[in-house]
Amino acid sequence: MSVLSLLIDGKKVMGTGERTFTRNNPVTGGVATEAAAATVEDANSAADAAARAFPAWSETGPAERRALLLAAADNLEARGDDIAKAMAEEVGATAAWAGFNVMLAAGMLREAGSMTTMIKGEVIPSNRPGSLAMAIRQPAGVVLAMAPWNAPVILGVRSIAMPLACGNTVVMKSSELSPRTHALIVEAIQEAGFPPGVLNVLSNAPEDASEIVKTLIGHSAVRRINFTGSTRVGRIIAQLAAENLKPALLELGGKAPMVVLDDADIDAAVAAAAFGAYMNQGQICMSTERLVVHEAIADEFVEKLGAKVRSLTVGDPREGKTALGCVVDQGAVNRIMSLVRDAEEKGAKIVAGGQANGVLMEATLVDNVTPSMRIYVEESFGPTASVVRVGSIDEAVRVANDTEYGLSASIFGRDTVRAMNVAKRIESGICHINGPSVHDEAQMPFGGVKDSGYGRFGGVAAIEEFTTLRWITIQDGQPHYPI
Ligand code: NAD
Repeated sequence: MSVLSLLIDGKKVMGTGERTFTRNNPVTGGVATEAAAATVEDANSAADAAARAFPAWSETGPAERRALLLAAADNLEARGDDIAKAMAEEVGATAAWAGFNVMLAAGMLREAGSMTTMIKGEVIPSNRPGSLAMAIRQPAGVVLAMAPWNAPVILGVRSIAMPLACGNTVVMKSSELSPRTHALIVEAIQEAGFPPGVLNVLSNAPEDASEIVKTLIGHSAVRRINFTGSTRVGRIIAQLAAENLKPALLELGGKAPMVVLDDADIDAAVAAAAFGAYMNQGQICMSTERLVVHEAIADEFVEKLGAKVRSLTVGDPREGKTALGCVVDQGAVNRIMSLVRDAEEKGAKIVAGGQANGVLMEATLVDNVTPSMRIYVEESFGPTASVVRVGSIDEAVRVANDTEYGLSASIFGRDTVRAMNVAKRIESGICHINGPSVHDEAQMPFGGVKDSGYGRFGGVAAIEEFTTLRWITIQDGQPHYPI
């Protein structure tokens, strides 16, 4: 198996430290990937290369950038099989999840291509006679992009597509858990013909992450940062960004509620809950973690969802078509199981699942969850969902908002006016009425509130994140000064 290299200034290099690190297959324990471990010197070289490439790239026209992004989307789709294999090996993802990743990520590249002609400004009436005053958007500079392993293609592509579309150059730091998957998407994009230095990629050993990230955020050419990952690391990124006075877009953890109102279509809610909670083993930032169910329909809902959850099979994704693949590592399984056991000890009922065999963990449904249980508060980021029974709409809203997170949410109810009023009261960046909490489209403003972060990826909203708004005037030069 080939050792993965870094991509700096259009060249594949092994890095100045000549060190590598490995990512092991979570099911077999065998080596899935060996990759170059970047040093601080490599981080500086990548940022320097991106800085050198910026003047020419920022001057390219929208048609040129669009053509490259569209070609990149085709290249990505052409590598779908390799990507699915890498995702199964590195993170135990199912083929269905890999296929969805490639499809949405290709859409993100095409959407970014179409955004190149949407980077607009305005002419603003000026009080100065004879002055033409404009607000124009210009590329910001070098963008540092950091993406996680759980939806590695979607989030990897998302971290670089709009920055490139807006005329920035990029240094991407790949995830230590999915370096091959991230390398494959970068190769697909690079092969579309982006000039050397426009897109640079660093893989790093886990123990070097802190130093490398600090170096990159502190590099004078880096003007924007985007980070998708945990709230814990997001706070570190936010602090480093603040110290260096650089804007950061932070997409962090979640604990999405699904509110099931007393007039909900229960079968539809059950189907959405099962998909939202257990797709990719619940390892999606938008995963439905809390089912806030009106007590009038709770028994029927839990019974039907329990039956559905028991039907979800789990297995090694490389061997067949199970609904669930594996959890990312044994440490994660131990943490998730400790949340389930804590809830059980404090009086919750395990309706389905509740066992794990190594990293293969059953889809688990927990009923009668109360605020004293850890699973009520902590992001499980695994195949669990908790039912909290409520007696009124006000209580449902209070419970849905009783979390530090605020990324996605879902509401089921046939009276859509009533459901819309509930949606307005939910503290989250995203909320779907009669749809699951897991839903992403390239053109939508994606992002959270509270401890789920700030800033928005997707479509027009991302243009604001990755450009700088300038005020430029053309005046008549006539003197009007008091001195
Ligand atoms: P993580 O935060 O543990 O790791 C992310 C990256 O942070 C890693 O690549 C690592 O190199 C880096 N890092 C670790 N320690 C660091 C330090 N001290 N200084 C600087 N960088 C450091 O996240 P993860 O496990 O890769 O991803 C899972 C998390 O991501 C979950 O909490 C999930 O909810 C969140 N997530 C959010 C979204 C979203 O769009 N909001 C999407 C997917 C995942």
